[in-house]
Amino acid sequence: MTTVTYTAGCRDCLQAENQSINIPDYRPEDLLQDTEYNAMGAINFQRDENNIKCSFCGSTNVEPFDIKVGNQLIFEASSVANQAKNNDDFMLECELKKENGNIKFRAGGVGDHSNLFLKEGYNTILNRVRFNSKSTFNPKQNGYFYAAITSPKNITDRYDISFETMRYLGLSKGEVYDGIMEKATKYGVEMDDKLFK
Ligand SMILES: [Zn+2]
Repeated sequence: MTTVTYTAGCRDCLQAENQSINIPDYRPEDLLQDTEYNAMGAINFQRDENNIKCSFCGSTNVEPFDIKVGNQLIFEASSVANQAKNNDDFMLECELKKENGNIKFRAGGVGDHSNLFLKEGYNTILNRVRFNSKSTFNPKQNGYFYAAITSPKNITDRYDISFETMRYLGLSKGEVYDGIMEKATKYGVEMDDKLFK
């Protein structure tokens, strides 16, 4: 069992609170090795089991982030980037910032990104967006989306992509799709917009 602390950000009322929870299926060292994405899933599962809701508005549409085991963050973009640099791996970051309805895209990462890597990377990110329920995307005036993936360098003809994290708030599913596709189509990503709207 591992006790984690995290920030619970509510996608409905936009308030955040610091909380802790026990994750029965993980040893601390294993949770620290896992991705933030999987840790978020484990926390949400336990929140459901224990019927934990946003204490401001009662919503269950809550995103756990800045997850810590002891004092150690499970995901920190700069340390994941450094690790990728040291291992000669690839990292792709994709961010959307919405300010007063205006959405700006930013891509980042590590490594010499080929079109094939970017195509697979954006495909992976869009697929995760696609399978998250539309009702969890609650559009507001301002919003934020961030996803990061890593992969060892391509030595055969495909990448072994690890989905590090995905955070979203204040954007509709369609806005996330449009924002990412604006870039992703350049690398040959094809995905039906009907799946997102
Ligand atoms: Zn709330």
